[in-house]
Amino acid sequence: MSLKDVKEKIAAAGGATLVAVSKMQPVEKIEAALIEGQRVFGENRVQDAAEVWPALRKKYPDIELHLIGHLQTNKAKLAVQTFDVIESLDSERLALALAEEMDAQGRRLPCLIQVNTGEEPQKGGINPADVEKFHAFCTSEAKLDIKGLMCIPPEGDIPELHFALLRKLRDELHLPLLSMGMSADYETAIRWGATHVRVGSAVFGERISLK
Ligand SMILES: *Cc1c(COP(=O)(O)O)cnc(C)c1O
Repeated sequence: MSLKDVKEKIAAAGGATLVAVSKMQPVEKIEAALIEGQRVFGENRVQDAAEVWPALRKKYPDIELHLIGHLQTNKAKLAVQTFDVIESLDSERLALALAEEMDAQGRRLPCLIQVNTGEEPQKGGINPADVEKFHAFCTSEAKLDIKGLMCIPPEGDIPELHFALLRKLRDELHLPLLSMGMSADYETAIRWGATHVRVGSAVFGERISLK
């Protein structure tokens, strides 16, 4: 697999924005993807991203960096400094902390609500039944710019059930973006309407544990 293969498969499945998930990848591989023209990337840890991306942005100012992992409220400041899109909005406290930081920094970042479609206790995200209420809180109380929904289906489950549910919830809220699908199932996700697929290992190969 490679960036080129993944992009061809995305196009053949109907097209979506590729969020190339570069967490725990050597910076040389990220640079190679940048040279090939890739500009949208995903990272799941604020601290790791803050170490790598500011230098790359100097060379490639049109990078769009998505936060796709859980964000602790005490990292909201660094997250708003480092990222362009927050895909993992998952609590009222975080919504308020992000709104405050965005005001302070004068940056309004588009956000996606992470939905725990499998209602797994160990996983972040808003339960499907609570999404409408949470969306209302984010827009009217926190005044965040909510653009869509994101999910990570439970491992071993049939992803289609989760993609269909996320799409239904997104349609009910009349939001434009739907972030779903990873290396194993991004083509399926596109057929279910994904606008953004988050693909890591199929683009970059196996992850390493040390940068
Ligand atoms: C790591 C990660 C991905 C990419 O996973 P791959 O299986 O390597 O494509 C996608 N989404 C989230 C939230 C991740 O943490």
